[in-house]
Amino acid sequence: MSFKSLFAAAGMAACLVAGPMHATEMKSEKANPLLAPWTGPYGGVPPFGQAKVEQLKPALEASMAENLAEVDRIAAYPEPATFENTIAALERTGRTLDRVGTIYGIYASTLNDDAVQAVEREMEPKLAAFNDQITQNEALFKRIEAVYEAREKSGLTPEQQRLTWLYYTNFVRAGAKLDAAAKRQLTEINQKLAALYTQFSQNVLADENEGQLVITDAADLAGLPESVRAGAAQVAESRGKKGQWVIANTRSSVEPFLTYSDRRDLREKVWRMFVSRGDDGGATDNNAIISEILQLRAQRAKLLGFETHAHWRLENAMAKNPERAMELMEAVWTPAVARVQEEVADMQAIADKEGAGLKIEPWDYRYYAEKVRKAKYDLDETEITPYMQLENLREGMFYMAKELFGFHFKPVDATKGVSVYHPDVRVWEVNDAAGQLVGLWYFDPYARKGKRSGAWMNAYRTQERFDGDVRTIVSNNANFVKGQPGEPVLISWKDAETLFHEFGHALHGLSSNVSYPSVSGTRVARDYVEFPSQVLEHWLPTPEILDRYALHYQTGKPIPKALVEKIERADKFNQGFDTVEFLSSALIDMKLHLAGGGVIDPDKFERETLAALGMPSEIVMRHRTPQFMHVFAGDGYSAGYYSYLWSDTLTADAWEAFTEAGGPWDKAVAKRLRDHVFSVGNTIDPADGYRAFRGRDAGIDALMRKRGFPVPEKAAAPAAEK
Ligand SMILES: [Zn+2]
Repeated sequence: MSFKSLFAAAGMAACLVAGPMHATEMKSEKANPLLAPWTGPYGGVPPFGQAKVEQLKPALEASMAENLAEVDRIAAYPEPATFENTIAALERTGRTLDRVGTIYGIYASTLNDDAVQAVEREMEPKLAAFNDQITQNEALFKRIEAVYEAREKSGLTPEQQRLTWLYYTNFVRAGAKLDAAAKRQLTEINQKLAALYTQFSQNVLADENEGQLVITDAADLAGLPESVRAGAAQVAESRGKKGQWVIANTRSSVEPFLTYSDRRDLREKVWRMFVSRGDDGGATDNNAIISEILQLRAQRAKLLGFETHAHWRLENAMAKNPERAMELMEAVWTPAVARVQEEVADMQAIADKEGAGLKIEPWDYRYYAEKVRKAKYDLDETEITPYMQLENLREGMFYMAKELFGFHFKPVDATKGVSVYHPDVRVWEVNDAAGQLVGLWYFDPYARKGKRSGAWMNAYRTQERFDGDVRTIVSNNANFVKGQPGEPVLISWKDAETLFHEFGHALHGLSSNVSYPSVSGTRVARDYVEFPSQVLEHWLPTPEILDRYALHYQTGKPIPKALVEKIERADKFNQGFDTVEFLSSALIDMKLHLAGGGVIDPDKFERETLAALGMPSEIVMRHRTPQFMHVFAGDGYSAGYYSYLWSDTLTADAWEAFTEAGGPWDKAVAKRLRDHVFSVGNTIDPADGYRAFRGRDAGIDALMRKRGFPVPEKAAAPAAEK
């Protein structure tokens, strides 16, 4: 969270700058528990339960001031610059801010209320300015540059050389070489952007919190399975509507409704509500904000010497430039659209046969896709769900972690005094095969008001070794709908995949075995970071996991073989929809950021670009522009949403490394995966790491096979090519 977070690709984005502190505030910091080093077992744990929201701002300000003072001391050091007195010294700085930033990030993402939002609005621009103040420190940059220029002949380890290269590159990318006037301009842009990002995400959150479909008549629940009804009743109760049902305006509520509701009119209503988030023309409309963000990003890219924001963003990604990312997306787009046409024809045939008298619209897609799945593969999602008990699947993930990485998970003993920020959160300690502590894993599975939607991993503390062994602390967060008290939580197959995916990020963090925090764990290139998480999704459907852990919540019997076979046969089902839904978002993201600095009307741009691409009218983007948090709630995945597809080319190819060898549990392949991918953080170039794992670069073939698309005769975009 300190300025070092400039290096972080994954985890919670955010981070930034500071104004001068007032003397009176200084005194009260003494009592601020957020500023103290973490105490307790496991090398210290976050002090949940001791902090109050009103302590966030003073703690952020005090720790930013401390970080600036530390950096100034390094910049003013009288001896010539060396790795040790400059780069390693920088790695030691910002520790208080790291800790405070972790707590701030948890509040912002999981305990967000009006008070937290006020802190965000005030602090985000200050944090942006803080980052700039460090990267624009001329004396500091001169020292970094000196170490960088001497890096190959000063006896540094490969990791130290790469860390030095990373500092130098990141400082240059952040404007370290600009003249004073340009630096001022850059800081102004960054602060404006930070404020706009906060506004953007608060608008989406407001629409998600406030939008809802209230159902008072049980007849309107037609088609919904029991688990979805129970979830809707639970949401209603939490909103003071006991005895009714509420479909909230979030993905985890909306998608099951669209899949199962027999009521076409209500499906349309819910669909319109969901795709209009941030786009309703009212106080929470994001269109003007997006337009301003795009202009500021274009200006910033020009200032930094890049053609567009996309060129700036991709320079340090594995793809290296927007052209290579576009080439991959275009290679997949055409076969995906062709597949959608087949899927729609299948759905239309069923609707016609039923005499529904309709043409498939976007609010029909999930509903009729489900019917096709039943008809074609005899597979009914509601047959699977009773076997998908959240807690059992979690045990299944632990089994996978043990078999592949030698990790053992055990619940943290209540007497150890590890506190949590919400009663739903639980903590496990993770040990390696030799019984050595690896780190802690926090699990926050359920949706609640004030928690951002979706699922994510976060590192509360990263692994490092250069100044003594520091164990990592990671967390997984999701938005599963909590069932009635005492009832097992049943999740969908997709949710189970998400569970394994996020756990993959956690294992990436836990496997880290590096010296320096800035290159630790998931702090790797944006288009590489999804690879370790996506690849672990492949273990969910293995018999070893399903037979042991997919147990019926009433009978305790494992999921029947015949059902598993049906799941396998239906594996490529609906890939047209999934791919087009994703790719349309990724293409709009990239094209918006390649468009230059003119004024853009986001709705119009989206409409016209999709029409030009030949977007099927039956599908809407997974994230429409006005609600595209990945892209507009921060720089995060801006011009970077393609990363999931890029990573998936590696994922598909890596999975084939297992299937070509002894299968999913092949120890030798697992060891190579751990040695060259999971444990190395950003200490090596990702393309080199992949090559060391696979023995060659990844092509597009495995990706096309995975999705059931025709494999091109000549691979279009070899993803791991340098
Ligand atoms: Zn992910």
